[in-house]
Amino acid sequence: MDTFTEVMRELKTRRKEERWKTYDTWKRSCCCPECPSYDECASRGRELLYCVLGMSNECIRDDKHCICPKCALYPVLGLSGKDFCMKGSEAAIRFERSVE
Ligand code: SF4
Ligand code: SF4
Repeated sequence: MDTFTEVMRELKTRRKEERWKTYDTWKRSCCCPECPSYDECASRGRELLYCVLGMSNECIRDDKHCICPKCALYPVLGLSGKDFCMKGSEAAIRFERSVE
C-alpha cells in the first residue's frame, strides 16, 4: 500500500474532531502562502492544505506555478499530484486519473 493510502486509511479510523485537529497541525506545515499562485483572497479565507481538503472554492484561478513538491508534507502524505488548489485534492486527482 502506498503512503497516501495508508495515511488516509489511518485518518478514516479517527473521529472527525480528531481529524480536524490533525488538519490544523498539517496546516502549520503548508507552504501555499509562499507560492506565487496563492493570492490575497486565499489568504483572507485562510485557505490551506488543498492537497487534503480540496481546491480553492473561489480564490485561486491564476496558475503562476506550484511549490507543493517542495513542501515538507509532500513526502509525509505520500502525494503525487500538484496544483491542488486548482485541480482538487490528491484523492480527487487520483480518482480522475483512474477514470481516464
Ligand atoms: S503539499 Fe501543497 S497544498 Fe499540501 S500542505 Fe503542502 S503546500 Fe499545502
Ligand atoms: S496548491 Fe500548489 S499551486 Fe496551489 S497555492 Fe499551494 S503550492 Fe501553490
